[in-house]
Amino acid sequence: MKTTTRNDHRRIAIIGGGPGGLTLALILQKHGIPSVIYERELEDKSHERGGSLDIHENSGQQALKEAGLFEAFQQVARYEGEDFRLFDKTGKCFIDEVADEDEQGGRPEIDRGVLCDLLLSKLDPTILRYGYKLNKACSLDNGMTELHFENGFVDRADLVIGADGAFSRVRPMLSDTDVSYSGLTMFELNVVDAANRYPDLVAFNRRGKMFALDDNKGILGQLNGDGRIKVYASLKAEREWLQTSGISADKPQEAKSKLLEIFEDWNESLKKYIRYADDAVLPRRIYMLPVGFQWKRNSGVTLIGDAAHVMSPFAGEGVNLAMQDAMELALAIVRNEDQAKAIEEYEEKMYEYASEKARESHDNLVLCFSDDAAPKLNNLMNSLIEQYNIQA
Ligand SMILES: Cc1cc2nc3c(=O)[nH]c(=O)nc-3n(C[C@H](O)[C@H](O)[C@H](O)COP(=O)(O)OP(=O)(O)OC[C@H]3O[C@@H](n4cnc5c(N)ncnc54)[C@H](O)[C@@H]3O)c2cc1C
Repeated sequence: MKTTTRNDHRRIAIIGGGPGGLTLALILQKHGIPSVIYERELEDKSHERGGSLDIHENSGQQALKEAGLFEAFQQVARYEGEDFRLFDKTGKCFIDEVADEDEQGGRPEIDRGVLCDLLLSKLDPTILRYGYKLNKACSLDNGMTELHFENGFVDRADLVIGADGAFSRVRPMLSDTDVSYSGLTMFELNVVDAANRYPDLVAFNRRGKMFALDDNKGILGQLNGDGRIKVYASLKAEREWLQTSGISADKPQEAKSKLLEIFEDWNESLKKYIRYADDAVLPRRIYMLPVGFQWKRNSGVTLIGDAAHVMSPFAGEGVNLAMQDAMELALAIVRNEDQAKAIEEYEEKMYEYASEKARESHDNLVLCFSDDAAPKLNNLMNSLIEQYNIQA
């Protein structure tokens, strides 16, 4: 698609400078369409929000191509990060996949901070406003939207895009539906500098992801590009359980001991993910929007990424969808002078692919925390490989 320069003075405001918001602004910028990003944090915090993300060929990688960043991405992506191991609680191994680095597979890994640095490296810094937390957005009679920020600033925009994550402040303009607790609680832990401090754990984990699933619980490990192993000790629990569990971020040593009790009868090589972790524990309840969520169309407001379809991380699609949405919306804006038409085109397409992924994510969540989850996940992955081979 050719680069165009728009002189229509339309004001586009993007709320949220996560992977979705940054990708959107960058693709618009590439086509000469100005926008402004309002981000609540005082600076980019994506390194602290950590976590390695696999970037898929047909979504995240496509968006990086549209943003002109694919070659730079290939330089920093970790193709070896596609290693995957699956165990049950006894340490029985069901899957032991070693990625072929030279093959440059379809789902290489990148740390969230590195991905955001990449996007920021090409973005005009003057469009990014840090320290602007949106409190409220409301429609005006002239079709514009008024944005009220916590710092007292007020702006008006012709097009507002909520890229402000699961707890979006833009979403209430379009729908009364709120996120609901998925039934899964995760505890995020970190084994920093793992190769030097705990080579036995790195040898066990290998270069990518390790899933251990059993008894409706899971220990998930992933080697990140900065040398840490990020760990998610996860379990099905009532929403209120966290308050009474005695596991809190304020008392990390106690929290680790309690987690070791919860996983008491698990194989020692799996418990090391908790035992070796640094003394910081971050509890997270996992929230989701209903599968197939849609909202009342508004020709001046739309949503992308988690704001539009937050789902559990068990399809590994969240960041990929956020970037795909950004690409689809940006290109619809480029194609259509008529803003209402651009939003309609984007939303119709997005509802279709996002609902499919939300269903997959929900089904995977149910499977991963059901009885005999490891053999079931093994069967599912084998049947997907079989289907893929038949199609190829
Ligand atoms: C534990 C866990 C593991 C995950 N693992 C994976 C994975 O392996 N693969 C994958 O693809 N996805 C994964 N995800 C999901 C992925 O992180 C998200 O889907 C992705 O970050 C969504 O991007 P986004 O830009 O839509 O929103 P976010 O990344 O949430 O960014 C939203 C931005 O908006 C800002 N903001 C929020 N509120 C306001 C406000 N009121 N005003 C202004 N700014 C605001 C925030 O500070 C933030 O910068 C995981 C998520 C979790 C919780």
